Amino acid sequence: MVYNKVMKKIKIILASSNKGKVLEFSKALKDLKISFTLFDVEVEETGDTFQKNAYLKAMSVHKLFPNDYVLADDSGLTIPSLPDVLGVHSKRFKEELSYFEKHKIINEMLENKDRNAYFTTVLCLITPQNEVKYFKGVAKGYIIEPIYANGFGYDPIFFSNEAQKAFSSLSLKEKNKYSHRGKAIQKLYNYLLEFQNA
Ligand code: IMP
Repeated sequence: MVYNKVMKKIKIILASSNKGKVLEFSKALKDLKISFTLFDVEVEETGDTFQKNAYLKAMSVHKLFPNDYVLADDSGLTIPSLPDVLGVHSKRFKEELSYFEKHKIINEMLENKDRNAYFTTVLCLITPQNEVKYFKGVAKGYIIEPIYANGFGYDPIFFSNEAQKAFSSLSLKEKNKYSHRGKAIQKLYNYLLEFQNA
């Protein structure tokens, strides 16, 4: 149990155009005294790492709201045996196709290749004091033939080593425990909790 009376209140601007993310972050950090505001930002993700792209998004909003905390994230699926596919370009990979078709193509590309894969999330928090903090989460596993149940994006073709199930077979609560995003958010939670109680 966390007692709000001893906590500093923090306002965080989430640099994203995705309304679902505000809900996801608010829910995961609900014990803390934080208010989230969404700021719709379209930044060209020119970085060659998740960290650089999360920074680019956060910095573009920090310039507009230098007195607030700004948070941005970047995520994706990396398949080392297909180095030019997905990774930091996950969102842009064959955007014109449905995920159903993308799952098929990736499985075809992986024929006779190593199926190891991992999801990454990097969160970038910029403080009003211009400090830049990163929180990273990784989920390791491998690519399978799709299992359509829960989830979104590449969940149906990702088998998690830790959960010993496809991401699409996990409940939301289970996914938050094992997922890259859940792990990165947990690290952010620990940081904010320490900060608020300081
Ligand atoms: P974003 O940076 O969170 O928007 O993620 C970029 C892309 O990576 C998404 O469009 C999805 O295709 C993929 N992705 C990221 N996280 C997940 C996940 O948890 N499950 C499935 N696909 C994901």
